[in-house]
Amino acid sequence: MKVAVFSTKSYDRQFLEAANAENKHELAFFEPHLTCKTSVLASGFPAVCVFVNDQLDKQTLSALASGGTRLIALRCAGYNNVDLAAAAELGMKIVRVPAYSPYAVAEHTIALILTLNRKIHRAYARIREGNFSLEGLLGFDLHSCTVGIIGTGKIGFIVANILKGFGCHLLAYDPFPNPECEALGVKYVALPELLATSDIITLHTPLMPETYHIIDAQALSQMKDGVMLINTSRGGLIDTKAVIQALKSGKIGYLGLDVYEQETDLFFEDLSNSVIQDDVFQRLLTFPNVIITGHQAFLTKNAIKNIAETTINNIYDVEQGKPCANELDVNHLIATKSLT
Ligand code: NAD
Repeated sequence: MKVAVFSTKSYDRQFLEAANAENKHELAFFEPHLTCKTSVLASGFPAVCVFVNDQLDKQTLSALASGGTRLIALRCAGYNNVDLAAAAELGMKIVRVPAYSPYAVAEHTIALILTLNRKIHRAYARIREGNFSLEGLLGFDLHSCTVGIIGTGKIGFIVANILKGFGCHLLAYDPFPNPECEALGVKYVALPELLATSDIITLHTPLMPETYHIIDAQALSQMKDGVMLINTSRGGLIDTKAVIQALKSGKIGYLGLDVYEQETDLFFEDLSNSVIQDDVFQRLLTFPNVIITGHQAFLTKNAIKNIAETTINNIYDVEQGKPCANELDVNHLIATKSLT
């Protein structure tokens, strides 16, 4: 099938071309994000292949449909950037990569926790300047800490497993408790109890109407003073302005983010020669106890290889008219309002 690949980076191209070695598809690589404006690039392509910050709103989907596109192949698990109702109306199929490497994201979560705690980012810069002072680098033992995990699916479970090795006490909140976590000794509690008793809180739930701003001013007010908050899931889970207030008051002692509410205008691009216009984001960068990575938690060779192979096979299944296990059941999702 002819596939227009949007938001292409060098690693996407490398791994998609390798996965397509048998030339199942004719791949055309485009660097821009998919938006209504750029959708013209996909004219004549029955399939488009997109990533997390491509915009698949009603207008863009309609433009794609008029250009002959009938398949959306997501190179990611989440689909909160797709207007599912519009896709259903236009008769478009949507396939995704439900799991590529939960280890990649879980391990990045641990990297953020360890870096923030032991202030590796500050130590790295100091040593390079010949400053060997230890003032301000005091950490704490992770052993015996209480960690609250919100969302214990594939990634949350692996985070729990790793932290178990550190000797942490593990609490979780998830409307659908995971028996594997329970077997590990994770204690499921109500959200207010998790918020009030955790030293570290880490988010691993999808972005949906029910989880939008799950961490808002009210949730923050229930947390311990000096709590560590980690978000490697989706930016919209956190009310960033409320988090900034909590950093200023000392309620949050450490913040680690791999995702940001308004990341579409920033992440995945080299903006080092531009003046960044997002004042909220810029304010976050001024805190010494905040680390932000640019949606890179997924970025391991293993994950990118899995994403590429699954994507190529998903498109092939649809092209061949075979049932594709990774096709979204759009009508069911609309009926149950699971919009991510
Ligand atoms: P998953 O579907 O396996 O698990 C999600 C869990 O969240 C499920 O157990 C579900 O029951 C739970 N959940 C649903 N509603 C909830 C609520 N209201 N409160 C608490 N928990 C709730 O998903 P996963 O593979 O573990 O991925 C989790 C998230 O990680 C994804 O949705 C995605 O947003 C994010 N992610 C980020 C990256 C990255 O590079 N930063 C990469 C992949 C995934």
